[in-house]
Amino acid sequence: MTDPKPTASHYVNGNYVEDTRGEPIPVIYPATGAEIARVYAATPAIVDQAISAAKSAQPAWAAMSGMDRGRILRRAADIIRERNRELSEIETMDTGKPLQETLVADAVSAADALEYFGGLAASLTGEHIPLGDGNFAYTIRQPLGVCVGIGAWNYPTQIAGWKAAPALACGNAMVFKPSETTTLGALKLAEILTEAGLPDGVFNVVNGAGAVGAALITDPRVAKVSLTGSVPTGKKVAGIAAGEMKHVTMELGGKSPLVIFDDADLDSAVSGAILGNFYSTGQICSNGTRVFVQKGIKEAFLGRLTERIADVVMGDPLDETTNFGPMVSQAQLDIVQRYVAKGKEEAARLVTGGARPDRDGFFIEPTVFADVTDGMTIAREEIFGPVMCVLDFDTEDEVLARANATEYGLAAGVFTRDFARAHRVVAGFEAGTCYINSYNDAPVEAPFGGVKASGVGRENSKEAINHYSEVKSVFVRMNACEAPF
Ligand code: NAD
Repeated sequence: MTDPKPTASHYVNGNYVEDTRGEPIPVIYPATGAEIARVYAATPAIVDQAISAAKSAQPAWAAMSGMDRGRILRRAADIIRERNRELSEIETMDTGKPLQETLVADAVSAADALEYFGGLAASLTGEHIPLGDGNFAYTIRQPLGVCVGIGAWNYPTQIAGWKAAPALACGNAMVFKPSETTTLGALKLAEILTEAGLPDGVFNVVNGAGAVGAALITDPRVAKVSLTGSVPTGKKVAGIAAGEMKHVTMELGGKSPLVIFDDADLDSAVSGAILGNFYSTGQICSNGTRVFVQKGIKEAFLGRLTERIADVVMGDPLDETTNFGPMVSQAQLDIVQRYVAKGKEEAARLVTGGARPDRDGFFIEPTVFADVTDGMTIAREEIFGPVMCVLDFDTEDEVLARANATEYGLAAGVFTRDFARAHRVVAGFEAGTCYINSYNDAPVEAPFGGVKASGVGRENSKEAINHYSEVKSVFVRMNACEAPF
């Protein structure tokens, strides 16, 4: 088994660096609660070193051809795929997510991003705009400079890859701060980028909690911040960035609707609901946690769902047959337990789950509440755990209005065999990422992100390029320049 202990707490200017004067941050294996490694939060000196390294490395990186930058990113993607098992084991020990998942959804997703944006790097061009009389304008697509990436704990390696790949493809340098709950994956990404030939200082990782994040985003040398995290943190970070007119991308939380009409393929809809509530033990921002089921199929849906949940394999996440792991931390488990208690108190019907199994670690059963109504706390607030709320509905108009009645707008899904209705409903959803007869797909080729309080900007796809570069316009007059006097 791979040793999860990192060489040091931070990765700056092409090397691991340590400063044990920083606040200790334990790395806890969520399946046992045991400390398996320890890192130290970045001191102000480390933060300064990382930003200085990024600032001095960025111009030469931007001056390289897109072809050369892209080749390095694609080489890093290949190394990640070769080392996928080791990286997945580390991700599992860091997050508690089953190895069955991390082998296919984490490091490989970072590799996809590096391959995709590596491929795009050589095609990032401006345009030529004819203006008549031989005059014209052209545009130059330029990097922003030093970008800061700040991650959440649910997909630490994927998030680091999704931010690093487009940023670096555009010619920026990055300082990335992982969540203090999951500190390991981004360090490995930095190590691999160096091995792939990335010049020192172009991608740096500093560990630490919110204070380190705040120190990074307030530094005047930083041009942009891309945050994946909760809505309250997003509002804080975007507010600080706005004060300095810095660019932002905000990938925040959600309470997304999943609408199941009575003509849907029942097993397929149940699969969608399981994927959208229990994959990664429910710790996914885009989860469809408000499952609206049309009244005629309510009991059939709940019956089939309960049968399928009985087949869950909860256990040691490093065992590849396990398909349901623990929560990431004691703190997150406490939050979920509080919401389960709240659901019972507000008279939602507990269909299955809600209890903790008799074992170490931060485990809780996959939980389904039915007869949930729009006003209940569990139907309004993001839980970020394996708690599905099933709500009843009668008509399309009614369900669309209720699906949209939330401050969030990250994702939304619909299951029906009536494709005209599916497209109509999706057109009406106030959400950035929608699914028809599917849930939670996140291929790098398609944009991902939210509207309303769920975020600003998009990750993945060509859209991400717009958020890591800016356009300079150049007007060219081919004849004499005239003035009124
Ligand atoms: P969080 O908001 O507590 O923390 C996110 C990150 O922000 C952490 O790295 C944290 O250290 C940092 N941070 C906290 N305060 C800061 C400050 N003042 N300045 C700068 N940085 C600061 O979120 P979390 O608990 O780590 O993650 C769970 C949340 O993330 C959920 O709400 C979930 O929906 C959301 N999420 C969103 C996406 C998405 O793509 N939309 C993906 C994953 C998770």
